[in-house]
Amino acid sequence: MDILKVENLSKVYGKGENQVHALKDISFNVKKGEFVAIIGPSGSGKSTLLHLLGGVDSPSTGKVYVDQTDMYALGETQLAVFRRRQIGLIYQFYNLIPVLTVEENITLPLLLDGHKVNRQELMDIVHTLGLEERLSHLPNQLSGGQQQRVSIGRALINHPAIILADEPTGNLDSKNSKEIMDMLVMFNKRFNQTLIVITHDERIALQADRIITIEDGSLAKVEVIRP
Ligand code: ADP
Ligand code: ADP
Repeated sequence: MDILKVENLSKVYGKGENQVHALKDISFNVKKGEFVAIIGPSGSGKSTLLHLLGGVDSPSTGKVYVDQTDMYALGETQLAVFRRRQIGLIYQFYNLIPVLTVEENITLPLLLDGHKVNRQELMDIVHTLGLEERLSHLPNQLSGGQQQRVSIGRALINHPAIILADEPTGNLDSKNSKEIMDMLVMFNKRFNQTLIVITHDERIALQADRIITIEDGSLAKVEVIRP
């Protein structure tokens, strides 16, 4: 089953002579439980693509279906709720809220929509991420690797259809990078959690089921690593 369908997606930034054609007519599908790596040179459009898949920007033309919902056909409020429910976003620089504790950062997507926190489920995630002793800490009291684990918890708390990660290990040393990728791959394999990761790291890309290469805004290559 295709959890994600991308149809003829294009994105133009700016107007007139400042126009940038960041994405040009991109189409591909992703199956539930698949791990897809997106690679390509700097400025080729990878982050733009991930933002469009995540519902945090809007395409110039084309469609994105997440679990059969035409995401950009939703109104703004509906889209915000849909995104919090179905998309888990992980960034290079974590994007945690500095005045909220680890527990509050992880449960934020639930609280914003007025949902109760399932204590058992929260503790399961926290345990898997090794953050039991850190629940009441603030982000600046954690190492980089720990902060990224908090952002993984926040991304997973809603059991989203898709996890999208933009250079999730780009700010970490090799030991922490491996730990973070091992966790993402573990959730992908054990819980059939669909995972799409932008990376510059070939070792990370080669862990994926498929590698999609973006060049100059276009889909240049699709390589199947694990059929
Ligand atoms: P990558 O993630 O592969 O480095 P990006 O998606 O960030 O590429 O950028 C693709 C192109 O779009 C680049 O030429 C970049 O300068 C341009 N771009 C990205 N974001 C914006 C923006 N908000 N306004 C104008 N141009 C942008
Ligand atoms: P890492 O090996 O992950 O880079 P660090 O060497 O940065 O970790 O930190 C080691 C330990 O000290 C970690 O458990 C972290 O939680 C804790 N720590 C790091 N920075 C702070 C801080 N500013 N306040 C409190 N504890 C911290």
